[in-house]
Amino acid sequence: MIWHVEICLKLIFERGRDYPWERPGSCPRCQNYRVWGHGFVPRYFDGFSDCLLMRCYRCPACGCVITARPTSHFRYVRCRIETIRSHLKERLSTGRWPPGPLARSRLRHWLANLKCQVQAYLTSTWTFGLLAGFDELWGHERIPVARVR
Ligand SMILES: [Zn+2]
Repeated sequence: MIWHVEICLKLIFERGRDYPWERPGSCPRCQNYRVWGHGFVPRYFDGFSDCLLMRCYRCPACGCVITARPTSHFRYVRCRIETIRSHLKERLSTGRWPPGPLARSRLRHWLANLKCQVQAYLTSTWTFGLLAGFDELWGHERIPVARVR
């Protein structure tokens, strides 16, 4: 299970295992009052040459393994949510992608996935546009730029 938490990725990069991690106040699955440390998993993020160690926890009551994830990032996506959103916003309002280091193929892939997500989950009755669709899907804990499964 993913636990979204405010994390400073730069500080994790600098301090590794010595980063001062918060601990979930309770198990997000069964609400058991405490969870135990359960090691780390490596994850990649844009802007960092090496993987960063994300803290894991385990609930002794239900066995659930909880992995920390920064609130700034969707699950499975290495790019910051705000960066993705600002690129899509520019493309949707001007017809052009903003200049920058992100590969056009990656940007087009996100836009295509967003269109599919809006079709699949908000359906053709959605008339507020793709950017509002992005926000709506995100608000419902979906990843708006992930492939529809
Ligand atoms: Zn639990």
